Amino acid sequence: MHQEMNLLIANVQIFTNDDENTILSECAVAIEGTQICAVGLETELKTRYANFQQLDGARRLLMPGLVNAHMHFYGTFARGLGLPQAPKNFHEILKFLWWKLDSALDLKSVYYSALIPTISAIRHGVTSVIDHHASPNAIDGSLDKIEEAMALLGLRGILCYEITDRDGREKCQQGLEENARYIQKCRMTKKKDPDHLFDCMVGLHASFTLDDGSLKRAAELGWTMGRGCHIHVLEDEVDRTITREKYGMDVVRRLGEFGVLGESSIVAHGIYLQDLEINMLSATDTIVVHNPQSNMNNAVGRPNIFKMMGENICLGIGTDGMSADVKQDVRTANLLHKHDLRNSNAAWVEIQEMLLKNNPRIFRRITGQKVGRIEAGYLADIILVDYCPPTPMTSENFWGHFLFGICDADVDTTIINGRMIMHRKQIAGLDEEGIAAHARECAAAVWKKFDS
Ligand SMILES: [Zn+2]
Repeated sequence: MHQEMNLLIANVQIFTNDDENTILSECAVAIEGTQICAVGLETELKTRYANFQQLDGARRLLMPGLVNAHMHFYGTFARGLGLPQAPKNFHEILKFLWWKLDSALDLKSVYYSALIPTISAIRHGVTSVIDHHASPNAIDGSLDKIEEAMALLGLRGILCYEITDRDGREKCQQGLEENARYIQKCRMTKKKDPDHLFDCMVGLHASFTLDDGSLKRAAELGWTMGRGCHIHVLEDEVDRTITREKYGMDVVRRLGEFGVLGESSIVAHGIYLQDLEINMLSATDTIVVHNPQSNMNNAVGRPNIFKMMGENICLGIGTDGMSADVKQDVRTANLLHKHDLRNSNAAWVEIQEMLLKNNPRIFRRITGQKVGRIEAGYLADIILVDYCPPTPMTSENFWGHFLFGICDADVDTTIINGRMIMHRKQIAGLDEEGIAAHARECAAAVWKKFDS
């Protein structure tokens, strides 16, 4: 299905995403193997790379593919699922929905629940996804199944299995082993191929479902293997209440003492962080990921992104399973903070920084891979968007065009690792209807287990 080739893309407007938000006209992008090898004047590159396959961009906007910094593929089968009981708070949302749904997954449903959002990611210009997975009754090999689904199309990702004590010690240990096994697998592959599409972190659910021993083992695994942790923090006050009650400590301090924090660790949400905790995350250079649609959907509030960014925390943006398309959360974030603060100027710069600068930075910190820029030496993760600006577009006003135009525009072409995965909105060799039919069958079986 995939073609790996040397490619020259011309007749495009280029948003480079460099520090100056440079926009280039009459320029072309040359791709050799997995990387961008040149960006420059079309006339020059057409001569220099005359032997490359030529792609006419038809005046489309060429920009780097996007990164979704916190995702749960396994949430796919929640779509349309009826709950027997209406949850009254966040803890009940976990108990009545997510902890029952993840328990009903087998390896086949893990595969299909990853494949559906993988297709959606490609269609919406998302080229890298940082996923956080749970399937307590199908742990061993579950990360391979997600990899298999993503690899079928060629989506880039960082995976992890969320360990937790909520299903007992044995499952917690299995979760730890799944992370260890998959970290080792990625490490071996990346030794031979640094551009390999997959990498791994140590996944943890949240402080309030993890005993001291489990936290310690997870942190130790991270140190030994040189990988960071990926954990939910203070998505709701319940994380603090139960952590205090059971372990006599505040959440961030506890994670810090066990060594879970650090520059390659991701903390998702952080809605109820206190000032001192924000300082601790900043001091340890821990990454935080904001997920506005999910926060609104669970009615849990919104984090103080301004305080966090003011403390120089590397703050990214993700979807937390709400959608594969991070652009939806970008638009929501912009509206959420403005509306809540009754300040129409709020969050303009911050959200732009999260998506365009910090998400690629996060991906690079964890994997060592250079994504997120149209520049020689960067990986060829590139999208062509059906966006012909109806008003003048410059480096200064690009974000306005992104939020109110590009977010809604169709993606025409998606290239990852130098491979053209979607072109003219077609993903070659993919039977989407057939895949959806298999997914529905799988989902019906999962729902049956969910109800029993
Ligand atoms: Zn999450």
